[in-house]
Amino acid sequence: MSMNKLVVANWKMNGSRELLSALPRFAAAAGPGVQVAVCPPFPLIALAVDRGVAGIVVGAQDCHAAPCGAHTGAVSAALIAEAGARLVIVGHSERRRQCNESDALVARKAAAAVAAGLGPLICVGEEDEGEDPGTVAAQLRASLPGGAPAGIVVAYEPVWAIGSGRTPAPSRVASVHAALRAALIAALGDVAGRAVPILYGGSVDAANAAAFTREQDVDGVLVGGASLDREAFQAIIAAV
Ligand code: PGA
Repeated sequence: MSMNKLVVANWKMNGSRELLSALPRFAAAAGPGVQVAVCPPFPLIALAVDRGVAGIVVGAQDCHAAPCGAHTGAVSAALIAEAGARLVIVGHSERRRQCNESDALVARKAAAAVAAGLGPLICVGEEDEGEDPGTVAAQLRASLPGGAPAGIVVAYEPVWAIGSGRTPAPSRVASVHAALRAALIAALGDVAGRAVPILYGGSVDAANAAAFTREQDVDGVLVGGASLDREAFQAIIAAV
């Protein structure tokens, strides 16, 4: 996957059935070697899949760590897979903060995703600007599922950059991604560790996207706010 670029939209608690009509435009904007994924809220997942837009992967924004059971209001990875999604974001900083999700819980969610045949998109990132890249790598190590998991994607999302309009320098992103790559190789082995796409996320827009994806080991972007604007997201896909 490292030859290709991955552009993932995280709609968070936004979007609508109407916004799904933009999926063909997003697919059309992707050049060769660019894969687009859209992660809408749960009620829109099956609708997005049923649109059957070639070239668009549909994902979810969270799953429960348990395969099923008495967890009112929660959604299992198996049901997300049954709805036709292929990936699921786990460990987004908003869930870590708002729902007190620990690294250990994120690792269990990632394992549940893998068991259901979904690719877990594991988010990590420092709270404050300028923290040591080793802190982010340690967070990743603690958030990885055990065994030899297939289909993992990692996103480096500095918490201070999310929704703030502030971004780290591309060179800083490259040094954190290098630390994350080393952690992946140590945990998964050389071949599997190098195959994991590592995305950058946090205030990505059409003007800055290419500066990140040009860097070594930056395999794509995870986009929040700008993914809700059709023109803006299309321009990001085209820029990558
Ligand atoms: P943002 O969000 O692009 O609005 O900063 C990114 C994210 O939270 O995934």
